[in-house]
Amino acid sequence: MNEKTFGLLGFPLSHSFSALIYNIIFKLYNKNYKYLLLETPPEKINSFIKTQQNLDGFNITMPYKNYMFSLINNGDKTSSFFKTTNTVLKREGSYKCYNTDYFGFLQSLKFFNVNFKGNILLLGLGGAGKIVATEAILKKANLTVAVRRASLKKATKTLNSLFSENFNENVKIVDLYSIPKEKYGIIVNATPIGMSPNTKETLLNEFFGCETAIDLIYNPKETLFLKKAKKHGVKTINGFMMLIFQAIKAFEIFTNSSFKETETLKLALKIKEKLKC
Ligand code: NAP
Repeated sequence: MNEKTFGLLGFPLSHSFSALIYNIIFKLYNKNYKYLLLETPPEKINSFIKTQQNLDGFNITMPYKNYMFSLINNGDKTSSFFKTTNTVLKREGSYKCYNTDYFGFLQSLKFFNVNFKGNILLLGLGGAGKIVATEAILKKANLTVAVRRASLKKATKTLNSLFSENFNENVKIVDLYSIPKEKYGIIVNATPIGMSPNTKETLLNEFFGCETAIDLIYNPKETLFLKKAKKHGVKTINGFMMLIFQAIKAFEIFTNSSFKETETLKLALKIKEKLKC
């Protein structure tokens, strides 16, 4: 059997489920592959590629998604659009960037039967926030993006660079601490607030008549934001299915294969069941 080595680059990686997910997939597909957690502090990131020549490909998580995209400077259509990567494949000595987070987010919406339209409130506009905002803009939803006051200009620049100013009509960018009091059918948290188990911060004190609250965080499985939303009678969705779907798409890239949607769904359900999430 052809032995290969893959891994996850990030810092820190204590919250990661990636090795568990890939080991399940490798076993189900009878692959003799290894998956390593490559926790790399910022002072060592410059030498990552040089010191990890044994890798056939790798995934990337916070805080290196943008850095790796710029460094490799060779992306597929989706990663080039977002200028960020979470999956890198090495083939014949050269590297190519992919972005499977977008696929993961879309599949997760489908899985949970979320109609991503109407009034949507998005908290945060980093790498993951850009993905959520793009889907809302493509669906012509009324999108309110809430960011810290100091990041308001940066947020406008981010959306301008993605949509060349062709998005303004249905999009508002507002201060996170003075969100307009309207009804938002869907609220998405795309900030890392809630990742720390001891945090008391949830960003929102009210849920604006929301029906569905999505937190992209998968560890903890239920953030304080989702707990509060549940108490308000809101349907809650965490980031676990997004994580599983993005990993399945990355596996397709690593193995140069293409799954039908039914196979992706079957595999996602198996992983979900094995991880009890
Ligand atoms: P990122 O690029 O660093 O962006 C983080 C965003 O959160 C930025 O808009 C940042 O605002 C904002 N933010 C950070 N700290 C904040 C605070 N204290 N108060 C208010 N806003 C704050 O990170 P990312 O890659 O988008 O990831 C965001 C979250 O999504 C993480 O929890 C990550 O685990 C999760 N995620 C999940 C999946 C999945 O598969 N489920 C995939 C990707 C990401 P500033 O610009 O003001 O700093």
